[in-house]
Amino acid sequence: MPKVSITELTQKDIEDVLTQWGEPKYRAKQILDWVYRKPVTDFSSMGNLPPGLREKLDSEFMFQSLALVTQEKSRDGNTIKSLFRLHDGHTIESVLMSYEKRQTVCVSSQVGCAFGCPLCVTGASGFERNLTPAEITDQVLFFSRQLKAKGKSVTNVVFMGMGEPMVNFEAVWRAIENFTSSSLLGIGARHITISTAGIPQGIKKLGTKKLQVGLAVSLHAPDNELRDNLVPPNRMYPLEVLISACKKYVEATNRRVSFEYVIIRNVNDSVQQAIELGNLLRGLNCFVNIIPVNPSVHNEFAPPGRVKIQSFSETLEHHHVPNTVRMKRGLDIDAGCGQLRERKG
Ligand code: SAH
Ligand code: SF4
Repeated sequence: MPKVSITELTQKDIEDVLTQWGEPKYRAKQILDWVYRKPVTDFSSMGNLPPGLREKLDSEFMFQSLALVTQEKSRDGNTIKSLFRLHDGHTIESVLMSYEKRQTVCVSSQVGCAFGCPLCVTGASGFERNLTPAEITDQVLFFSRQLKAKGKSVTNVVFMGMGEPMVNFEAVWRAIENFTSSSLLGIGARHITISTAGIPQGIKKLGTKKLQVGLAVSLHAPDNELRDNLVPPNRMYPLEVLISACKKYVEATNRRVSFEYVIIRNVNDSVQQAIELGNLLRGLNCFVNIIPVNPSVHNEFAPPGRVKIQSFSETLEHHHVPNTVRMKRGLDIDAGCGQLRERKG
């Protein structure tokens, strides 16, 4: 049995362990402070704990559930991608994107993904398992420690790495509690976004939460026939069901939904499709991010030209659907979902 990761434990869990060991409860806060807020990488560096307790923690718990395999920086230095190995040998990816004052970590929620969207490298690798709360938390902590050493911190988290977060909701939420807790990472809930291929049950659950975590839905198509192919879970949860879940989410939270529209040449980039999308989203409090597809060896997809993307965006605008075309970042280091893992994993 591998040791339990310390980030798997809540403050209460740590207090219980300390009580069993005959140690005072207040040490739990000190331990959490070291784990979440200081750029240390092991228990032995926890200076204000007695040496015996540091050794005991080290023998019982893992400080970090992820081992770095490789890290690559984009040419402009603003995107850093990390490949991690988990205790069972599987590998996952996380990305740090720096943009002005914003430091965003893109995290994985599963090893692989069961949904097999043809545009996505993760989808091509199949599904292995869900990540634990600690494995999700530790991705952010890894970058947080690197940034802390430079006097910076993680400001945003997006669940846009490998896997479908809504089918691993409990673990994702436990990790989000670690990110947002003011005594742990202290990241504002509004600066955290869950991206989903469109699982209505997950959207509903998110709508019941008090924390104002953002919702992004991967839409990619304005009609069911095309979306059945581009986003296979659409066969279970067609657009009527998905959009209705989004409407209820907006009503319940008063928050705007973001839609991701990965735009692909001659597949979903026509003006007619922009009109259909405009009609589909009419009246919904939403924002559309148009993202040129990142080419991969698993498919023949290519991004449309600039002019085509612009006219798609303008057509949507005419339909009163606010949108933006998102720049590609970090392409030279395979920042597309699952691509570094495929090469080095
Ligand atoms: N499973 C979730 C979250 C992970 S994927 C989801 O599908 O939303 C995060 C985003 O990356 C999704 O919008 C997905 O469609 C997009 N994506 C996957 N492959 C891509 C590619 N080749 N080019 C551009 N975006 C891609
Ligand atoms: Fe899974 Fe999202 Fe990739 Fe589809 S796009 S295969 S849902 S990770």
